[in-house]
Amino acid sequence: MPELPEVETMCRGLRPVIGALINRVVDPKCTYRPVVCEPSMRSLAARLRGQAITGVSRIGKRVIIETQRWSLVLQPKMTGLVSIEEPPSREHVRLILELSGCEPESVTFWDRRGLGTILLIERDQVVSRLVTGKLGPDALVISCQEFTSRLSSTRRPIKVALLDQKIVAGIGNLYASEMLHAAGIDPCASSAAIDSRAYARLHAEMLIILNLAIQYEGSTLSDGTYRNALNQAGSYQNEHKVYDRAGQPCPTCGTGPIQRIVQAQRSTFFCATCQRP
Ligand SMILES: [Zn+2]
Repeated sequence: MPELPEVETMCRGLRPVIGALINRVVDPKCTYRPVVCEPSMRSLAARLRGQAITGVSRIGKRVIIETQRWSLVLQPKMTGLVSIEEPPSREHVRLILELSGCEPESVTFWDRRGLGTILLIERDQVVSRLVTGKLGPDALVISCQEFTSRLSSTRRPIKVALLDQKIVAGIGNLYASEMLHAAGIDPCASSAAIDSRAYARLHAEMLIILNLAIQYEGSTLSDGTYRNALNQAGSYQNEHKVYDRAGQPCPTCGTGPIQRIVQAQRSTFFCATCQRP
């Protein structure tokens, strides 16, 4: 968290700043664990001052604020948030862009745990720095054929392979569990052993779930960290079938209970009845 639907919601919430001028870049001198910033905050501020924002986009789980020359890449990782609203707390604000020429007065990058990153690169470096060899096609646009061929080329358990951003970009721990459940696939199954019919189901369920989660403006978990652009909780958490529901009856088959296992140091939630080996 945040995953594709949450980051997409952040990007959509930032649209009102397109066309605005960056008057000043403020380093709030956060005293908690610092986020990684490249280049230094001082040179980043000098490069962005006076630039107009020409676009906002998403690559995988990153927010990109564009000017004619630069791409400001904000990676929220576990607890980050990019917003035009008042952040959840002042002391965890990591970067502020003060704006003019639009309704929002600023964009803030907030990160409670400080695991996020700030990167400023020339726009024409985005693909070579962030995509080539690092990010697969985006989960919202990958074709079923490419999805199947990329995943079936690894023997890792399907749940673990889905989290590999080199295979497909944007899926994280929460939505991986949900889409495997919807497709009725055992999270421990070897990716190489899943047949093409099951992959077609998984691809279809992925699109349904991610698009629905975007409509619901993402999932706000019990830690309350993630907020939509208007500083309200998302609502897709109310639609979760398995994630963080260990011990509860499965809402799909009515039996369950939902089980929790650990795969590659991450929790996986599934129903052993709906998702047979
Ligand atoms: Zn079930």
